[in-house]
Amino acid sequence: MSYQRPKGTNDILPGESEKWQFIEDTARILFNDYQYQEIRTPSFEHYEVISRSVGGTTDIVSKEMYDFYDKGGRHITLRPEGTAPIVRAYVEHKLYGPEYDTPYKVFYMGPMFRYERPQKGRLRQFHQIGVEAFGSDNPATDVETMVMALEYFKQLGIRQLRLAINTLGDEETRKNYRKALVSYFSAHEGQLSEDSRRRLHENPLRILDSKDTADQKIVVDAPSILDYLSKEAQEHFTQVTTMLDALEVSYEIEPTMVRGLDYYTHTIFEIMNDNPQLGAQSTICAGGRYDQLVEELGGPATPGFGFAIGIERLLLILENENVALPAAHRLDAYVVNIGSATNVEALKVTQAIRHAGFSANRDVMGRKAKAQFKSADKEGAKLVLTLGDEELSAGMINVKSMETGEEKRLELSSIYNNFTQIFDEMS
Ligand code: ATP
Ligand code: MG
Repeated sequence: MSYQRPKGTNDILPGESEKWQFIEDTARILFNDYQYQEIRTPSFEHYEVISRSVGGTTDIVSKEMYDFYDKGGRHITLRPEGTAPIVRAYVEHKLYGPEYDTPYKVFYMGPMFRYERPQKGRLRQFHQIGVEAFGSDNPATDVETMVMALEYFKQLGIRQLRLAINTLGDEETRKNYRKALVSYFSAHEGQLSEDSRRRLHENPLRILDSKDTADQKIVVDAPSILDYLSKEAQEHFTQVTTMLDALEVSYEIEPTMVRGLDYYTHTIFEIMNDNPQLGAQSTICAGGRYDQLVEELGGPATPGFGFAIGIERLLLILENENVALPAAHRLDAYVVNIGSATNVEALKVTQAIRHAGFSANRDVMGRKAKAQFKSADKEGAKLVLTLGDEELSAGMINVKSMETGEEKRLELSSIYNNFTQIFDEMS
């Protein structure tokens, strides 16, 4: 009997995991510079936390949840996204209190779970890096957060980026827009997919996000939300575009973009990489403003803004754009040891080098000298130290610089007492 990983999941093996560490580290450094601090929430939540926030008519809640009843009869779901759990934590720990900074800014990275049809860039366990900022309704927050995401992709070396923005306005806006949509889509009801006919009266905005090609044809000519903005919503959106212009950031307004989650208000955005190979999976970052969500989950009225980046899609794009990520770290010293009598001394020498603060490795397989040198080379060792029976009985060791080819026969004791100096001189 042999087992395979569950459909839609990946094993991230060495060789690949270095790339993950690099993109995670790059995010940590940049987000810290913007004063975001890390938050870690559980991988599962009470079902209601997600269904209330993301919305019952969204694909995420109606089709993609990994939910179950636990042994205590609680309705639990693996988290499909990061925002709702963080808002839950924000309210639960009263992070809006006077002892905390406003805006309260957090970032996260970790696995998310959605029961989707697996394909390139679409998995059942995938990973997101995201941020949330609570407490500011200033459009400058929208803009600096979108710009931070763009900055992140630029730092990673991605060139082909497209920023698409839209607004979902406030409640008044959506009430009026909803009416316009119901009347438009009702006139085309016969051509809509079954899902969208159901959405028509429950939540017509959802039709705009339909992945069905027949639906999408009708969506093309749907009314634009930009014609229904309230005065406040128009003002917020105008400030966002003015500020993007002030920073000379290029963007496109996509008036039928709604995003797949119900909690958004005002600004929403997506960052795309227009690589034809990725098709519907070209969006690497998505987010927006959610000014009602904290209240919806039982907290005080608090505006919010955030985004999430799909790590698997980011890696595909880095690969497509031939971005070279830093290779695995090099080794400072490799200890070649020949003959079983040297086993203990090789162990001691290797540990001494490690204790001096260097990276070191040795052969433990009793291989021939030639094979050991090959390993040292493959691991990128800067120095190779060789210990045979003859050296051992003389209390000596051979040290070779792989860069210059320089070789020295040194007292074994100098490795224990003075490795830093030897390394500085020879590497
Ligand atoms: P899509 O329209 O592609 O299904 P979405 O609107 O469901 O995306 P969000 O919930 O906004 O996506 O998630 C933000 C980002 O997370 C996406 O832009 C994408 O990069 C990534 N993502 C979402 N779902 C998946 C998945 N199943 N597999 C891999 N990455 C995903
Ligand atoms: Mg989706």
